[in-house]
Amino acid sequence: MIYLDHCATTRPYSEVVTAVSTATAADFWNPSSMYRPAKALDRRRQAALQSLASLLGCQAEELIQTSCATESTNMALKGLFARYGKRLDRIICCASDHDATLATCDYLATHGADIIRLKPRADGRIDPADLVDALNDRTLLVSILHVNNETGVVQDLETLVPLIREHAPKAFIHGDLVQSWSRIRFSLRRLDLDLASFSAHKIHGPKGVGLLYRKAKVLPDPLIHGGGQQKGWRSGTDNWPLLHGMQIAAEIQAESFVQRKAKVNAHRAYLSKELTKLAAVFNFSDTVAEICSVSFPGLRGETILHMLEEEEIYLSTASACQTGSGKVSHVLQACGVPLDRAQGTLRISLDALNTEAELEYLVQTLKAKLEQLRQWQS
Ligand code: PLP
Repeated sequence: MIYLDHCATTRPYSEVVTAVSTATAADFWNPSSMYRPAKALDRRRQAALQSLASLLGCQAEELIQTSCATESTNMALKGLFARYGKRLDRIICCASDHDATLATCDYLATHGADIIRLKPRADGRIDPADLVDALNDRTLLVSILHVNNETGVVQDLETLVPLIREHAPKAFIHGDLVQSWSRIRFSLRRLDLDLASFSAHKIHGPKGVGLLYRKAKVLPDPLIHGGGQQKGWRSGTDNWPLLHGMQIAAEIQAESFVQRKAKVNAHRAYLSKELTKLAAVFNFSDTVAEICSVSFPGLRGETILHMLEEEEIYLSTASACQTGSGKVSHVLQACGVPLDRAQGTLRISLDALNTEAELEYLVQTLKAKLEQLRQWQS
């Protein structure tokens, strides 16, 4: 089996599986209880948050454990609108954002939010001039997807964030950092975001756990009310095993960053060379090495995907949420990729766990399948 869909999810590291299962069996205490083992577990919880915070470049108190990045983004957007929406009602996002953002914005529009969806340029980037035009003195929030999950294009936060600070000083800035976590080195402090969403299952951690970074003094209304856990930010009994699994995954990713990147860069260089020989078009040029949006004009991406699936090679045409909808990716559409190319697109998302032999097999298999398809068509 060859897995090339690491934007959809990743295989948890064996250390993560062990940590989660050991914690589930042994550390079953409720960290809010009053007796010694529970209090000791609560201290381990704090230490795990501290470790995550130092890797992300923020304070432990600024992290809220959630069930996934979708929840984090919902809390950022809905929580801010609930608190400040009467005075500040404009929310700016980008038409190529993930559905976690777009669908939440659509929901908030039905509650009176003034949603602006910026159209990205053909290179996938937000045009700074369009962003400045959209900012006004009623802007509550700008949400930016750092690394796009379909195209791999990186938004230039170093340019965009200062522009927002200058032209809409009251606005909050939310970053969807799901696909950039552990693919790009960053410090939240330096990025100067107010809120950011993260997901553990994209970095070889467990499913069902994510983070919302909320800069001190940024006060979205909580989504979930109850027993007041996590200082009231998100009620519900703390899920230590999943937090621990996320911590272990994040630590391994940080330690292995340099080796992982070197490996993935080599994989990407190989694919760029070999797929171009097969008449593939790379839809975007300035991307993280891990994400290749590659098109075979005149062919259907879905057909190629299923032909590769027969050989146990797994990749996707668009994001996992859109697969099977039969629609052309909203991301490629937003970036103005011509229909013929969009329909023929595959998303290959690489990881350091992939081997050279796997990629050679992908190229050979793809070559054979494409010949077959082109013969059928002629
Ligand atoms: N944002 C981006 C860019 C994603 O790729 C994903 C998952 O595909 C999400 C948000 C949602 O993450 P989760 O599965 O943790 O809800």
